[in-house]
Amino acid sequence: MFKNLIANSKNLSYKMSQEATTLLIPGPVRLSPHVQSALSIQSLSHTSPEFVTIYQRVLQNTRRLFKADVKKGLPIVLAGSGTLGFDLVGANLVSPKDEIYVISTGFFSDEFAECLNGYGANITTSRGPVGDIPDLNLIKKTLQENKFKLVVMTQVDTSTGVLNDVESICKLVRDVSPDSLIVVDGVCSIGCETLEFDKWGVDFCLTASQKAIGAPPGLSIAMISERALETALDNKASVKPFFSSLIKWSPILKGFEEGRASYFATPPVQLINSLDVALDEILEQDGGLDKRVQTHEEKSNWFKSKITNELGLELVSQYPQNDVSAHGLTAIYVNNPPQVISSMKSKGFVIAGGLYKGIASKYIRIGHMGYSVCNSDAEDIVKCYAALKSTLQE
Ligand SMILES: *Cc1c(COP(=O)(O)O)cnc(C)c1O
Repeated sequence: MFKNLIANSKNLSYKMSQEATTLLIPGPVRLSPHVQSALSIQSLSHTSPEFVTIYQRVLQNTRRLFKADVKKGLPIVLAGSGTLGFDLVGANLVSPKDEIYVISTGFFSDEFAECLNGYGANITTSRGPVGDIPDLNLIKKTLQENKFKLVVMTQVDTSTGVLNDVESICKLVRDVSPDSLIVVDGVCSIGCETLEFDKWGVDFCLTASQKAIGAPPGLSIAMISERALETALDNKASVKPFFSSLIKWSPILKGFEEGRASYFATPPVQLINSLDVALDEILEQDGGLDKRVQTHEEKSNWFKSKITNELGLELVSQYPQNDVSAHGLTAIYVNNPPQVISSMKSKGFVIAGGLYKGIASKYIRIGHMGYSVCNSDAEDIVKCYAALKSTLQE
């Protein structure tokens, strides 16, 4: 039985690569050919000069990705998924009974809240109506009436396709509650939306390799500010994290960033090599990060206007009036989502279903991040639109 599996595995991966499907879910996203081939290198020693050079460049470019100071704070790239970023915050910045304010825009904000609650924090939540962002006046009032250690928000909640106004909320927090640490989940936004870590005064921003960064799943990527790092290194909680401890990781990551190998736990060398190529494509090619954000906006606006004007469908994020839509995915109300998803599959497009409680069975989600929209003949979303149009006319 086992033998058979191994014998077939060659065949299986061959078949999969031949399959003519286009992956358009909101992560993982399609890989560029270079990012994909960077995955297939032979293993390197994790302390070799070759690997140190790669990891060093990845950590330095991670700062550029977040628009963070080249000296202060710490870039973090670890084996894990985006969700590990939740635990990094919980394990390093939260003590039992801490007051934490979660500004929720959907499923992922609620997951983050659940994680931090598990570390013993008291959570206060504000949420906007489904598909909208919470009211800034409500946020201001809540900040004035309480003292929060952390203010947590999701830049793009991938469950609703809503883009939160992180810049304005950061300004409010700095004005009303300057001691609160600002935490942003940027998993579905870093690489396709504007985020200014330093300028906006963000203290911790987390993302993952497989969304708008366009690398394979498997890496948790984050940036922590100087003052948040001080809090983390001073963590006196009686229960100590181990793998997710920044007391453990900070000297290691600092060492690699400065070109020195050191060991706490083995980094996934192939994934980091692949991320190195993905970051190079974001930062050095086709006009760099700002141009990439602009391209995502243009492609997203084209897709959204077609869907609303030509097909007459409604988006979960309010559009075009009072637009709060994200630019890396589109969440669309349709009749019978499972049927739409399976018909799209038969036309060669893998798309996703709904995720947010209360409306999950009423909508579909289509991702348009990274290579699918950024390569020079990026036709994925155009072809996907044609397939969706014909699906809905069946
Ligand atoms: C995907 C996602 C996560 C979780 O990331 P994983 O890599 O699946 O663990 C968290 N937050 C947001 C906004 C996401 O889109």
